[in-house]
Amino acid sequence: MSTRRLSGTAFGTRKPLMNENSNVVAMPPKRKMVCHHGPTNTFFLATPIGQVSLTSCPRGLHSISQSSTLSDSDFSPDVKCKVKLESQLYCDNGYTYTPALHCITWLTAFFSRQHSDHVPAFCPSIVSDDSFRSRVWVRLMEAAPWGTTISYKDLSVAAGKDNASRAVGQAMANNLFMLLVPCHRVVRSDGALGNYAHGRRNSVKQWLQDFEKGQV
Ligand SMILES: [Zn+2]
Repeated sequence: MSTRRLSGTAFGTRKPLMNENSNVVAMPPKRKMVCHHGPTNTFFLATPIGQVSLTSCPRGLHSISQSSTLSDSDFSPDVKCKVKLESQLYCDNGYTYTPALHCITWLTAFFSRQHSDHVPAFCPSIVSDDSFRSRVWVRLMEAAPWGTTISYKDLSVAAGKDNASRAVGQAMANNLFMLLVPCHRVVRSDGALGNYAHGRRNSVKQWLQDFEKGQV
């Protein structure tokens, strides 16, 4: 995640992060991350693809991702799992930012196969119109709707550059908004799956494609 415009501040209630056995896993950092639209909070959700965390400030989302330690060998999806908010990094008296609530609603619909094109707001400090990476993310959401795939090459064209497949690959590898920016729908020109999470979670990509086709 870009931290260029982020700074630290010390407000917000710290609450230990617990695992499912109620053991303390970690304490959140003392300094709360803030962008110039306000402080961020991180929310941890149960989903059919395992735990997903999303970070939001009052203005919009900063990221949504799976655990960085998840790999193909321990990916165990459960299509019957309901999307549920399990915990949040800072208590904040139970307050949840509107973009985060919108994202939880969106994810609930996604995993119910009642997907919506009305995606939650992204924070402008993360997604800006003037970068190729942001343009690729936005174009992908328009060019590859639910249940479809698009090649890196065709996405390059859709983003306004005919021969930028490598840059498109970089934009996908650095996608901060999994599912919302559906990089799991981007495949190679020969139809091969292509990598997901730098090749560490290709089974997640395959599962998501199968899920959208109603095959799981
Ligand atoms: Zn922000």
